[in-house]
Amino acid sequence: MALKRIPVPTEVKIADDGGAIEIRWADGRSTRSQATTLRRQCPCAGCVDEMTGRRTLDPDSIPNNVGIRNYEWVGRYAFQFYFSDSHNTGIFTFEKLREDNQ
Ligand SMILES: [Zn+2]
Repeated sequence: MALKRIPVPTEVKIADDGGAIEIRWADGRSTRSQATTLRRQCPCAGCVDEMTGRRTLDPDSIPNNVGIRNYEWVGRYAFQFYFSDSHNTGIFTFEKLREDNQ
């Protein structure tokens, strides 16, 4: 599979209440992702069974007011988010974040 070239974020803004993250991309596009949606879609080994790909996290266990407190770059391809429920093990690829426009 050929590696798709994904534009990198040029600006990242966490909403004041942490409820969403806005990303402006190198190609001029902007996307906005809800913190609760990202948290419920967390792809880490604690939330998804690595062998089967089945989601083990119950989305209903995530409160609607969960927020993003901080983020870190993971190489040049993803962000790691620090959620207000102390969860921070998920790696969210730019490719996935680009699909969001919630
Ligand atoms: Zn997770």
